[in-house]
Amino acid sequence: PKKIGHIEIIADELERHKRENYHLKAEVKRQNSMNNLFFASMIRLTARLNPEQIANETAGLLVNYLEVNELAVFFYDEKGKRLNIVAANGLNDNWIPKIVYELGDGKVGLTAEKRLPIGRREFDFFGQKREPFEVFDPDICYPVIYQDELFGVIAICRENEFDEREKNFLGVVSTMTAVALNNTRSFETISFTASSDPLTKLYNVGYFKDRLTEELNRARRFQHSVTITIIDLDKFKDFNDSFGHQAGDQLLIRLAKIFKEHFEDTDIIARYGGDEFIVMCPEIKKQDTARIVGNLLHDLEMYDFGRTKTGSKITFSAGVASFPDDGGNVSELIKSADEALYEAKGMGRNTVRIRYPRAEKI
Ligand code: GH3
Ligand code: MG
Repeated sequence: PKKIGHIEIIADELERHKRENYHLKAEVKRQNSMNNLFFASMIRLTARLNPEQIANETAGLLVNYLEVNELAVFFYDEKGKRLNIVAANGLNDNWIPKIVYELGDGKVGLTAEKRLPIGRREFDFFGQKREPFEVFDPDICYPVIYQDELFGVIAICRENEFDEREKNFLGVVSTMTAVALNNTRSFETISFTASSDPLTKLYNVGYFKDRLTEELNRARRFQHSVTITIIDLDKFKDFNDSFGHQAGDQLLIRLAKIFKEHFEDTDIIARYGGDEFIVMCPEIKKQDTARIVGNLLHDLEMYDFGRTKTGSKITFSAGVASFPDDGGNVSELIKSADEALYEAKGMGRNTVRIRYPRAEKI
């Protein structure tokens, strides 16, 4: 009986080794396919991609390789000294166009300013600052730099801490991204990408605010008016629910083209939020802008965008406000247009509201 006992032990041991071996093999296989993925990405990065494709490749690579909840690749807009999202994963669509950082602002802005990786600990170390956007609070950020040239920042949110291996990996990928961007030699495209919305190719919020600031300065000097309008699609969620998110994206692209045709070349059209657009019309009165926007709303009926499950067609609501009546600076003006838009929604949508100055108390 004793001998049998030995044999049993050996058999058990063999079984254990077999299982271990099996796991090791699976792990090697997994690592191998990860490596292949990594190399394929590296090759694509060094191939002739344009700056936006590079940002997407980098985002895709990191999402495949690391466990992440949210990730965003920002490009640095050298002129405006701001960082804008070019590629993202896991972020709420509505917010992406609004998440813009100034140098030194939040972890993303600090990473760009210091040109160092910044995690929560480093952020505390540099002192006190709050994140400017409640909806995006990254756990770690890496600068995308090559030879003193700052191209952008990679920001990641996730629950678990990053280990050394992962941090090294992030360092390598950020550098590779910078090298790839540098190789494109298309610095103009990079700065264009940094001031435009990746989906619609309209301008982004940061660029819009700069231009509006300039225009308000001019208007103050020459005493003319500047009108802005905020346009928000009606029940766009229904459209997505009926036709899918991709069709929703295509609609936004199509609408951006239509908007461009309707406004003057001197007007600045930007994507303001997920389904929101903002337009600046210099030297034009509120009533005239409202008329143009009203015509646009009317003309949308000519296009066949399809009907949603609930039977509704694509329409929008808009609010119009102008300098100097409704606001003396960028934020006041935007707030007024937003309030007018809110009124338009409240009135049942599919309409344009002009902001009237509040009656003064006597
Ligand atoms: P409302 O008339 O009140 O504006 O209703 P709404 O459904 O349009 O709601 P709201 O403006 O609050 O939300 C906009 C929706 O647009 C939510 C989101 O799913 C969708 N959306 C935002 N950005 C994008 C995008 O980039 N692509 C797609 N396909 N959908 C988006
Ligand atoms: Mg909407």
